[in-house]
Amino acid sequence: MKVFKFGGASINTAERIKNIRTILNSYTQEKIVVVISAMGKITNALEKVVATFYENKNDEALQLFEKIKQDHLIIANKLTDKPINQLTDFFTEVEWLLHDKPVKDFSYYYDQVVCAGELLSSSIVSAFLNEEGIKNIWIDVRDIIRTDDNFRDANVDIDFTQNKIQEVILPIFNTTNMVITQGFIGSTDENESTTLGREGSDYTAALFANMIDAESLTIWKDVEGVMNADPKEFNDAKFINALSYDEVIEMAYYGAQVIHPKTIKPLQNKNIPLHVRCFLNPASGGTIISNKYVQHLPPIVVLKQNQVLINLSSKDFSFVGEKPMVRLYEIFAELKIKPNLTQNAAISILICIDDLQEKIEKLALMASEIFDVQLEKNLTLLTIRHYNPEIINKLSKDKTIVLEQKTKDTIQMLMKN
Ligand code: ASP
Ligand code: MG
Repeated sequence: MKVFKFGGASINTAERIKNIRTILNSYTQEKIVVVISAMGKITNALEKVVATFYENKNDEALQLFEKIKQDHLIIANKLTDKPINQLTDFFTEVEWLLHDKPVKDFSYYYDQVVCAGELLSSSIVSAFLNEEGIKNIWIDVRDIIRTDDNFRDANVDIDFTQNKIQEVILPIFNTTNMVITQGFIGSTDENESTTLGREGSDYTAALFANMIDAESLTIWKDVEGVMNADPKEFNDAKFINALSYDEVIEMAYYGAQVIHPKTIKPLQNKNIPLHVRCFLNPASGGTIISNKYVQHLPPIVVLKQNQVLINLSSKDFSFVGEKPMVRLYEIFAELKIKPNLTQNAAISILICIDDLQEKIEKLALMASEIFDVQLEKNLTLLTIRHYNPEIINKLSKDKTIVLEQKTKDTIQMLMKN
């Protein structure tokens, strides 16, 4: 069994959906779970719909949603003459909600609306493939992936989900070779939709791979594979054909956009190789990520924008001992904050985190009970693995560096923009 994941760019036009039919045509003898994300920029567009709805602008929200509806219908009509009834059901569910007055948390509504992106795109792909003779069963992944109610960043209940996969997904393969489902979304035990965090479809695909004991996971993207830097930022970025799980988890953690950071663990735990391949050039092998250690890697460069440096210093010149540190990490846990870099000194501690306005404000307030708090915004965290003096010089010259850390493999520099 294999798992394939197709991202938004691979299905954003009728032509591209036909292209994935061509790819899948060469795998009809295999048993495959196909995980689909929302088309193109639909998730962003749905985010605008919810934000507008939450400002009590119901009519405007409905208008924005109408545009999303039309975008899907135009693509569906290019692919099949038959109406896809499911689309109407999902449209109606969202529209029904958009007529309401918001009374719950924003995140709750976010998940109820944004999940439509994956439900719509996967329904279109499934219907089209069935009509083209690539027989598949469409599954609403919300019946499989059970999560808690931490909306927008829900945590998967692994045991429940594993059982559902055993009960529902595996038996399908006795009669059909392909299951088509959605990434990124799940549901609570009260049947509320949830999402797993932006770009979370890779993670869903990795969970499926782990739970069906797949021989491999392939993520189909619009790039040749993994590069040593983001080609949008660095025009000399080089393609890398093999990487270890360790290497990729570090890259993803420090902000490489290539794969969602949560993707690696489920694969590594069962030693399932991950192929990153280009849907525009399926003949090329792409990058393979596995437990094999790869020698002689080029420097790998990752930029993480929108960073804040928080300087916490003791109020009375006492050392930053274990008590304030414990309290600080309790605050991180409460606010679900993950520091990207920390550095301690005698009477102060420096912490670099993502600039999420709401969280930063709460953190500053809570930390001010024990520390004097200073913030510096608009910073970029540069991480270079397998660095050498030339690359450090090239990327840091003319920059003001506010914090630097170096280990044998990795250098990190927090820089002013
Ligand atoms: N559609 C979601 C997003 O754009 C999930 C994903 O693409 O992985 O974030
Ligand atoms: Mg995506």
